[in-house]
Amino acid sequence: MTRASDIRARLSLMALLAIAVPAAIVAVLGWVSLRHWQASAELLFREQARDMAAMAVDKIEMTLRETENDLIAELESALEAPGSLATALDAFLAAHPLIRRLYLFDRRGELLYPATRDGADAAIFASLLAEVSQGFWERGGRRELTGGDQIALAAILRGPDGHAVLAAFTWNVEVLSEAILSRTVRTLEAPTILAVLDARDRPIFSKESLDGADRILSVPFRERLATWRLAVYQPPGDSPRLAVRRQVMLFMGAFGVLLAVIAAGTVLTWRLTRREAEMAQLKSDFVANVSHDLKTPLSVIRMFGETLEMGRVTDEARRQEYYAVIARESERLSRLIENVLDFARIEGGRRTYAIVPTAVEPVIRDALAAFGHPLASQGFKLDVRVPPDLPEVPMDGEAIGQALSNLIDNAIKYSAERKSIVVEARVAGLEVAISVADSGVGIPRDEQGRIFEKFYRVGRSETQGRRGRGVGLALVRHIAEAHRGRIAVESAPGEGSRFTLWLPAR
Ligand code: ADP
Repeated sequence: MTRASDIRARLSLMALLAIAVPAAIVAVLGWVSLRHWQASAELLFREQARDMAAMAVDKIEMTLRETENDLIAELESALEAPGSLATALDAFLAAHPLIRRLYLFDRRGELLYPATRDGADAAIFASLLAEVSQGFWERGGRRELTGGDQIALAAILRGPDGHAVLAAFTWNVEVLSEAILSRTVRTLEAPTILAVLDARDRPIFSKESLDGADRILSVPFRERLATWRLAVYQPPGDSPRLAVRRQVMLFMGAFGVLLAVIAAGTVLTWRLTRREAEMAQLKSDFVANVSHDLKTPLSVIRMFGETLEMGRVTDEARRQEYYAVIARESERLSRLIENVLDFARIEGGRRTYAIVPTAVEPVIRDALAAFGHPLASQGFKLDVRVPPDLPEVPMDGEAIGQALSNLIDNAIKYSAERKSIVVEARVAGLEVAISVADSGVGIPRDEQGRIFEKFYRVGRSETQGRRGRGVGLALVRHIAEAHRGRIAVESAPGEGSRFTLWLPAR
């Protein structure tokens, strides 16, 4: 690698970092802020759920207290009613399905109503009687009692004979659920599901079905229904939390795509600059090669010219040989200049072709004639095979001659010990194939596709030891395509190469 390409590589690496590092920072920041946003959105969501639950608890407890007030007022009036206590209380119970069981005790703990205790309630009332302190009897008021699954309300009331009595009743849970919980909760607008759970976490009531729903949180009741809790559930499917999560996923997806696009763009730009750099390198090689190629024949011409001018060569045969060398080298020079000028014309889109039916053989002979000397002096075995009945082919004879010259020039240049060249023309279907084959160094398979690119040379001129400009084959391809034909190569390293120019026969 040269210093210049070293610097270029470093520059493109820096450019790559200049894009990759900010992109990475943006990615990390994006990720962190998304996580933050998700966390705070979830927090907010939980807080809203908690507020909703607290509000529901307040409302339920308020409704419950109001209901208690009414019930106790009515119970008091039942107690004051004339006639049998049992009849009055039976009628009271019948009128209030919200109460499952009612018990009345006097201060000594004697059961006044009903005549028998229910087994299931025995436990709760045993503890009730034990717990009811002297103070409660005197102060009066109400308190809630909980025991096992049961919730009961106890109140000190004025009995029929004016003495204080202890009334205790348990709720009918089904009626309570329908008349109080449902009625109260239904008025609360919430995207979540509110449910009331008993001491064992079993739902007593829920606003909607809890199938597949996720419990977000639950809060305890405070003054009433003390063992129960109010829970907030997230409905299955379209819930706010899922929406947040979906949003986050969407953001991440979009972000990922963005990063991928940036990465792809960076890689593409990098490859493009690398190609540009390669092209610049090839161009500078081209200039160096052309200058060298111009200098060699020029110095030969000059040397022989000066020798002749000085009149030192007396031998006529010698003199003729010198003239021939000068003529040959000038020819080489014009070929080279013609190639470069043509190349410039093609690049500028100014190259035109005069395509007319032309005999193939003379074109081949003319092209070969220019190489008479190098072929003979280097001991090449030349084989030209052109069938006498080969039809005329539409072509620009000069351009095809130039293409063949380039192919022959290469065949000579890239031959090693086995010096043999075969030039052949034949009809193949609707095409005419003109091929130049050598037994030279050959071209590696993976390079065969690239040798027709402009400035491309297999290996490097320094390493291969043959000067060249890397435009010869590019020119050949251009000429072939201008004739609506193509150029193909078959080659194996160490064995030789065959270049075939395919032209439409009419
Ligand atoms: P150059 O001026 O370098 O010969 P060309 O465009 O004519 O440029 O050829 C491109 C490259 O293809 C050459 O550098 C050479 O490596 C390879 N090449 C062309 N012709 C032959 C051949 N007959 N045998 C082996 N290699 C060849």
